[in-house]
Amino acid sequence: MSEDVKEQAFQNVKTLINDVCRQLNIPDECRLRLMDCERELTVNFPVKMDDGGVKVFTGFRIVHNDSRGPSKGGIRYHPDVNIDEVRALAALMTLKTAVAGIPYGGAKGGVICDPKKLSQCELERLTRRYASDIALIMGPDSDIPAPDVGTNPQVMAWIMDTYSMGRGYSVPAVVTGKPIEIGGSRGRFEATGRGSMVSALLSAKHLCIDPEEATVVVQGCGNVGATAADLLAKEGYCVTGISDSSGGVYSSGGLNLESVVNHKKATGSVIGCQNTETITNAELLELKCDILVVAALEHAIHKGNASAVKARIIVEGANGPTTPEAHKILVDRGIFVAPDILANAGGVIVSYLEWVQGLQSFYWDETQINSYLGRLMTNAFNQVLSISECEGVDMRKAAYMTALKQLATAMCTRGIFP
Ligand code: NAD
Repeated sequence: MSEDVKEQAFQNVKTLINDVCRQLNIPDECRLRLMDCERELTVNFPVKMDDGGVKVFTGFRIVHNDSRGPSKGGIRYHPDVNIDEVRALAALMTLKTAVAGIPYGGAKGGVICDPKKLSQCELERLTRRYASDIALIMGPDSDIPAPDVGTNPQVMAWIMDTYSMGRGYSVPAVVTGKPIEIGGSRGRFEATGRGSMVSALLSAKHLCIDPEEATVVVQGCGNVGATAADLLAKEGYCVTGISDSSGGVYSSGGLNLESVVNHKKATGSVIGCQNTETITNAELLELKCDILVVAALEHAIHKGNASAVKARIIVEGANGPTTPEAHKILVDRGIFVAPDILANAGGVIVSYLEWVQGLQSFYWDETQINSYLGRLMTNAFNQVLSISECEGVDMRKAAYMTALKQLATAMCTRGIFP
């Protein structure tokens, strides 16, 4: 995404928040507070590189709103991450945690770096220094990071260790998405894809689509996309197409997902997997199917391709995969869109469960985690669907309405200090 598009991303979220607040007659004092981020920390910090030199990196940690509880959101390591993108993602987290009904606010962090070009030692030193700098904001009761693009459970382990060293005792609840051995939750790895699967199932049920006769196409064969594809296939859906950054594969009779994933592991791409036809990324999005799960990047569906999408349901596993112009085209064409702040909330729901387990030092098994996740996702989906039907609005607007009502109630109830 270009700088302009990233700046636009925050503006897009703010425009929708503003419109929905006005429509719901939310008091100005709440609306205005939601138009800006509450706390923004920029850190420029030195890291000793392996060649003996020193580089200065820039990072951010931004809390959009913490009226409903401690702020929650991932940390992104990417060469193009910038403050506007982090603000937009932080605001989306505030809305997502409210839709999911979990007692959190929203935050996001980022460091401008290319993790693929750093050695493991450099990555550790960068992470520890960044963690130490953002400890001004971060804490198990105040702001709780998690992995995002370019970070992983190992990075979370270094953050947890750095924070704990500063306190003199272990504080597992300061981050989520940790390895299981140091307090991570079972089911966290699959959680976002599982939540997207639940959203897909409920969307299909709403449109009376029979799983035995339904087809699914998935953009993105990563954590979210591959998990959602696998779980939907286990529910009886026929997954006919899946893609990664190199392109897609298609089989009208249904893909053998195990062999696609193994082929990707062996060659780095899904392309060339046996018994499949190779297609482009553009073609994949235009395949005829009942459910299209978009689980790769921002802005995958834009005004240039929205008219060509043939799916009946779009499930937004990724954050912001549909531009506002494209969303309007899809909704006008009668396509049912399960929006990102609802459809990919499974990850933050299990992060919440990981945090609760860390605080109480009592851990649940995977069946319990998946059952909680299913229940919270189903409640959230049904609540948004009911608002969508009662108010005659699309699911994205209904999700914003659900979130903003809860936020306004929390803000008004707490009042303004001093
Ligand atoms: P990932 O890196 O595991 O997978 C991303 C996949 O998308 C990869 O297979 C990649 O090759 C593919 N891809 C990249 N560009 C593509 C393109 N142009 N066309 C098709 N495929 C392309 O990432 P992930 O964790 O699965 O996250 C995917 C999306 O979901 C991101 O937008 C992320 O922000 C969002 N998300 C993830 C989580 C989570 O818990 N992992 C939670 C909420 C939202």
